[in-house]
Amino acid sequence: MEEKFDIQSYLAKGVEQIVSDALRATMKNPRESAYMLRFSAASRKASRKRAKTEAAGEHVPAFLIASITSSCNLHCSGCYSRCSEATSDKAPVDQLSGEEWKKVFKEADDMGVSFILLAGGEPLLRWDVIEEAAKRPNMIFPVFTNGTFLGEKYLELFDEHRNLIPVISIEGDRDETDSRRGEGVYDKLISAMSGLQERDILFGVSVTVTSENVRKVTSDDFLSSLSEKGCKLVIYVEYVPVTKDSRDLALSDEERAYLADGAVRARENFGEMIFVSFPGDEKGSGGCIAAGRGFFHINSRGGAEPCPFSPYSDVNVRDTSLREAIRSKLFALLRDKDILADDHVGGCVLFEKRELVEEQLAKGFPLA
Ligand code: SF4
Repeated sequence: MEEKFDIQSYLAKGVEQIVSDALRATMKNPRESAYMLRFSAASRKASRKRAKTEAAGEHVPAFLIASITSSCNLHCSGCYSRCSEATSDKAPVDQLSGEEWKKVFKEADDMGVSFILLAGGEPLLRWDVIEEAAKRPNMIFPVFTNGTFLGEKYLELFDEHRNLIPVISIEGDRDETDSRRGEGVYDKLISAMSGLQERDILFGVSVTVTSENVRKVTSDDFLSSLSEKGCKLVIYVEYVPVTKDSRDLALSDEERAYLADGAVRARENFGEMIFVSFPGDEKGSGGCIAAGRGFFHINSRGGAEPCPFSPYSDVNVRDTSLREAIRSKLFALLRDKDILADDHVGGCVLFEKRELVEEQLAKGFPLA
């Protein structure tokens, strides 16, 4: 009988690795390292809490992704959030309020969640929610922002609350970035980075890796330029071809291997920086870690989804607790039927299996 993959120890090791990398990256920065030492203790306590819950037969993930708004000022080509209409130019409808996100953050903290990634749309459009996140120092909130609203007010908030870590989206140099994100966006990102660097605030970048930029964004030139600007974290997000005509931007197996080698080389050459790949090595995690295994996604209206790339939900955290959401029929189906561990083409198993998920949702989970 094949031994069940121990996802909780895998997550605890993953969090420990991120924390030790962060302590190394912030060693020369007294304010950041003071916060990281405090967080290191809180994350160990959280890991013990999750392990205890696991032993009692209930699983709690270490990470959550929260899309706190459906609004955005940019129209990036191939934006998965706009393609799935999770982001649109229409006035936001039925968004969770600051108070409702405060309840979600409190419950996550009590359960032993250590990281909540704030996304959107453009999350800096929700000052009220980010203020609530600032009040939860036991958890780190990487804020995935397009960087165009990173002005004085936010610099002060990030300076004061080091559990908020801005992660700025960039595609490469000016040409790559502006061609996807719009004229002039690159210059705004660079000025945002210098504002963060002047205040010694830990920040990172998120790079959507495609067949077009994989060589550029893993090159020493690109990474040196980021390091000089004070960047300490690089998150590579493999492009998921949300539209038929963008399939050629998806990484081939060779390019995926090139990205993996590039990340290894980068860790060797840029010891002061942290490198994370998403979805990264699924074989090492016993399959995809979505649907509550390692994390799950809460959309701006409170829907609990397996992942931002799988925008389906059968429960809403407005009416249920996070604990109940993790036990949703959809999540249980994906985990217990090993759909997350299925072999698949491309970077995202749930994107490849979207018809199956839609069918199960429509028919009330006959497979469950
Ligand atoms: S900034 Fe993000 S949410 Fe906005 S259009 Fe670009 S990729 Fe989409």
